[in-house]
Amino acid sequence: MTKKMRFAAACGAALLVFALFFSVFFVVAEADHDCIGEHCTICHQIHICQKLLEQLSAAHTALAGGAVLGFSMLLLVLRTWNVFAASSPVLWKVKLLN
Ligand SMILES: [Zn+2]
Repeated sequence: MTKKMRFAAACGAALLVFALFFSVFFVVAEADHDCIGEHCTICHQIHICQKLLEQLSAAHTALAGGAVLGFSMLLLVLRTWNVFAASSPVLWKVKLLN
């Protein structure tokens, strides 16, 4: 990973964390606002923030599930290739006839 890509990934992660915290802060701060009814802009913004939080949590869950599934498949493949088995003369089928 080059330095430029690492910086871009760090910026993306920082923006994601900022959006997450700002959404939580906005929802908490405006929870008891003076609502004007059906066309309230604050309620609309709160709804958008809640949708963002739901999508981020769903994406996080899917990412974690994919990581666990990938790691399990990697362990399964390595186990079938006998990577974890200790090497010994018996496994190498060496005859010790000295
Ligand atoms: Zn409202």
